[in-house]
Amino acid sequence: KLYLGRIDTYNETLNAFVDIDAKHVLEQAEASDAYRTKHGPRPLEGLPIAIKDIFCTQDGPTQCCSNILRGYHAPYDAHVITRLKAAGAVLVGKTNMDEFAMGSSTETSAFGICRNPWDTDRIPGGSSGGSAAAVAAGLAPAALGTDTGGSIRQPASICGITGLKPTYGRVSRRGIIAFASSLDQAGPMTRTVKDSAMITAAISGHDSMDSTSVTDAPSVDWLGACDKTDMKGIKIGKPKEYFIDGMDADVRASIEAALAKCEELGAEIIDISLPHTEAAVAAYYVIAPSEASANLSRYDGVRFGHRCKDPEDLLDMYTRSRDEGFGSEVKRRILTGTFALSSGYYDAYYIKAQRVRTLIRQDFINAFEKVDLIATPTSPITAFKLGEKTDDPLTMYLADIFTIAVNLAGLPGLSQPCGFVDGLPVGLQWIAPAWREDLILGAASAYE
Ligand code: GLN
Repeated sequence: KLYLGRIDTYNETLNAFVDIDAKHVLEQAEASDAYRTKHGPRPLEGLPIAIKDIFCTQDGPTQCCSNILRGYHAPYDAHVITRLKAAGAVLVGKTNMDEFAMGSSTETSAFGICRNPWDTDRIPGGSSGGSAAAVAAGLAPAALGTDTGGSIRQPASICGITGLKPTYGRVSRRGIIAFASSLDQAGPMTRTVKDSAMITAAISGHDSMDSTSVTDAPSVDWLGACDKTDMKGIKIGKPKEYFIDGMDADVRASIEAALAKCEELGAEIIDISLPHTEAAVAAYYVIAPSEASANLSRYDGVRFGHRCKDPEDLLDMYTRSRDEGFGSEVKRRILTGTFALSSGYYDAYYIKAQRVRTLIRQDFINAFEKVDLIATPTSPITAFKLGEKTDDPLTMYLADIFTIAVNLAGLPGLSQPCGFVDGLPVGLQWIAPAWREDLILGAASAYE
């Protein structure tokens, strides 16, 4: 009731939620109370969690904030939603996002822009901007997001909360509307590190219905990992490629101060190099659109969502349904991806980008021979003004310059608040070897 009241007061301004059914939220809460009385609490008993509109839920519509899916009701729950329900969580509705998770500012949503609670003239980050704004404004204590190139960590950073992208394969993608299948991963967005650990514990684990969900993922003592209060004996790599000239000087100073605090807590800071970092954005913007162009071919006016009125023939139906249903950023990605995958260009772009991806992965493997963890800024800048970058896709793409390599390498990453510049939050990003979320949670808990 407390959160529903706050949603009532603040959502009109923020537009963090795009769908909410208050009556159904209370029904779930009552059912949770009844369960607790009868059997005792489950791990997330009664915890309200906001859900990004990319997760299929039987409750309410699932629209990926796109006109092409307007009014779509999923026939099943995503695996992570089934897990949350089994753990006793209460789903609080669907949060705003960039259309099909393509963007860094939540401005490409077909359901209107979302505002940053710290300054409502500014973006909340993206693509999970609604989830980040909801948690930052206290409209929900926690939310689920997805991260293909930074979409959990970047909005978490921009809204001053904690966001964790687990190792690729740790969390099932079944029922998460696919953007770029080899990069997408779901994770929690919360106010504390321990909250993120609790939710990841609930949603992770093998799913036989997702072939990319790993069967023998090393397990983690999720809550135990959060007990650390110092960083004694931890070697933290500071990659020179993440402290570049173009970044905001005050953001840089915040990160340097955060690293100094890590040293005080007992960590050793070691200068490292991830030499192929510069190529990450270029490789990502070939690979992600290529996979998206294939994944989005299913929206054809036949099986899901929007169909144009009175089509003349089949081609007219495909063409007009897709033209009417997709926004311009989604069209840009489909065109780029289709071009990159077309015969004659496939080797020059797609195969080359995959090779670069291998080099980026290898950079991290080499670095982790010397250090336990890597620390970087999450974003080179704080929240920018609404509309500031909407006409300039290339500078928008650079918003993810520090988060994208982690997805290309399939590694876990977390962003946590580490200060403010002119009243706007700054985020510190932790990166660990695959399956070592425990190292991240330990360091982030000690830092917090
Ligand atoms: N901003 C990046 C993009 O537009 C990443 C989005 C994401 O992680 N979903 O593709």
